[in-house]
Amino acid sequence: MNVRRRTVRALAMGLLGAASGIALADKVVLTGDRIPTDAGSWIVRPIHHASLALGWEDRVLYVDPVGPAQRFEKLPRPDLVLLTDIHADHFSHETLRAVCKPDTQLIAPPAVADRLPEELRARSTVLTNGQSTTLFGFRVTAVPMYNLVSERQHFHPRGRGNGYVIHVDSSRLYISGDTEDIPEMRQLQDIHVAFICMNLPYTMSVEQAADAVRTFRPRIVYPYHYRGSDVERFRQLVGEESGIEVRLRDWYAP
Ligand SMILES: [Zn+2]
Repeated sequence: MNVRRRTVRALAMGLLGAASGIALADKVVLTGDRIPTDAGSWIVRPIHHASLALGWEDRVLYVDPVGPAQRFEKLPRPDLVLLTDIHADHFSHETLRAVCKPDTQLIAPPAVADRLPEELRARSTVLTNGQSTTLFGFRVTAVPMYNLVSERQHFHPRGRGNGYVIHVDSSRLYISGDTEDIPEMRQLQDIHVAFICMNLPYTMSVEQAADAVRTFRPRIVYPYHYRGSDVERFRQLVGEESGIEVRLRDWYAP
């Protein structure tokens, strides 16, 4: 978002606050890791396992919100929700109903959209691998996520789920979804922030994840969806000499 639009929005909110007596200072603001870019800052807020919240200016995105609503009660509600797959660690009607605002928009692959309750389905943009849409200034592209090894392919068959690349201004952020180190991941370019899954048998090993990351070279990588995996070993395998910053966060706090 450019400065002028930001200013207009801030002015509008100020006028609204003055006219209606709304205590704008009480507005919930997303806190977390701040990642500055040339045009604005990302806020990264790990929530749990595959669930995360992202902020950009005054917009809030959730990815795969699941679990009790208390996990989200101190967070601003999302403008946009990205859903990657049908499994319970990524998709919950109950959580979506609890966290979404009346005007929250969703993006989902067809298999997830087909399982959404009607009121949420009506606000969803359905993307298959390779398709893109723009919402709230975010250019969102659905990218493949799937298992490579034959005995794991039933977990995530190719084409069912979506990873995502979110492009805003000059910054590109990648969410892997549940996948192995597929060629489409290795071919990613110019990724600023990457969220990479790693847990066997469902997705991939830390060795696979580190090898892929060293190939597509995001500037910053967050291991997520890593239950039971040695993320410190992942950090060592990526290596300081790669120039890639590995950010280890606790995604499994009680
Ligand atoms: Zn999963």
